Amino acid sequence: MSQKATINGEVIFVGAGPGDPELITVKGSRALERADRVIYAGSLVNPELLRICRPGTPIHDSAHLTLEEVVTLMDEGTKNGETIVRLHTGDPSMYGAIKEQFDYLDKQNIPYSVIPGVSSVFSAAAAVRREFTLPEISQTLILTRLAGRTPVPEKEALAKLAKHQASMAIFLSVQDIGSVVKELLEGYPASTPIAVIAKASWPDEEILLGTLETIEEKVKAAGIRKQAQILVGDFLDPANGYARSKLYDPTFTHEYRQGTAT
Ligand code: SAH
Repeated sequence: MSQKATINGEVIFVGAGPGDPELITVKGSRALERADRVIYAGSLVNPELLRICRPGTPIHDSAHLTLEEVVTLMDEGTKNGETIVRLHTGDPSMYGAIKEQFDYLDKQNIPYSVIPGVSSVFSAAAAVRREFTLPEISQTLILTRLAGRTPVPEKEALAKLAKHQASMAIFLSVQDIGSVVKELLEGYPASTPIAVIAKASWPDEEILLGTLETIEEKVKAAGIRKQAQILVGDFLDPANGYARSKLYDPTFTHEYRQGTAT
């Protein structure tokens, strides 16, 4: 028998959603219900979600832990047959630092799976009741961030992405709204609408709407420095109107519906 056979637990990475505890998936919620141990990103995950766990479930706030400490918990727990839920904010695949955990688990032959979550980008769009993809305005959504302590590859500099004038959502950057606006102005006209949504789906959610000319002042006046999505593009407020969708056009025929002649 090899060493590997002694691991009989598993790790489940779960997207916690943007904040509102009702925005976790049913599958994610069920994983929390049966978890033997939970490691959650305390800085952003709503602690109310932990009430789903069985009373007495050991809970670790990863805000205080290093990667090594997190994976040691996973290693020891799964050897004891535990189902460990690793709860990440929003959807784990965006700025979740999950790959480094997967690599460790792969090396140790520890089984793991991922349950997706509602990213804050979609919660922010819901808060302002907008659609990113309007026909003839933009059919592309760019998800990105400003370079910070984590660098952004030069080929993806915000000023370069801005040249597409696509719909864009910027994570992790509101603390430097001045630089965001400066880089966006390299590509978008100054009149382009922009929205800042802080704490989307939380009780203290805040929404600021403006243009590239006005938003910096508004963000500074509101004192927003973290946990915000910056959405930019004409999808927010199309100046010249957008085209109707083909899908719901009465004259358009598709797999499920015969269109009428005009
Ligand atoms: N995986 C997460 C993102 C983690 S990075 C997701 O899918 O949403 C953390 C950044 O996400 C924050 O700096 C902020 O830009 C954004 N964010 C997280 N929760 C948010 C919320 N409730 N409202 C607005 N932005 C949020």
